[in-house]
Amino acid sequence: MNIEKKGTRCIDGLGRVVIPRDVRRTLGFESGVPVEFFVDNQTNSLIIRKYNSTCALCGSCKELIEFEGKQICKHCVGKISNLG
Ligand SMILES: [Zn+2]
Repeated sequence: MNIEKKGTRCIDGLGRVVIPRDVRRTLGFESGVPVEFFVDNQTNSLIIRKYNSTCALCGSCKELIEFEGKQICKHCVGKISNLG
């Protein structure tokens, strides 16, 4: 993991924090984009990642199943099952 400091901000009274503009542009964190949170308890760190709500293989957004941290649609799961 390659971690780089990108700024310092204060959390407001409602728990909100402004993500620096250059970080939002670089990562495509536009208004309305869903994100997911991961906590590393060993380092007391929070990672925010764009929530990928489409199939990692075909791009479909229907009937997704999480597998090994990725979203895969039922159609692709069926195709993979037929390989074995
Ligand atoms: Zn798929």
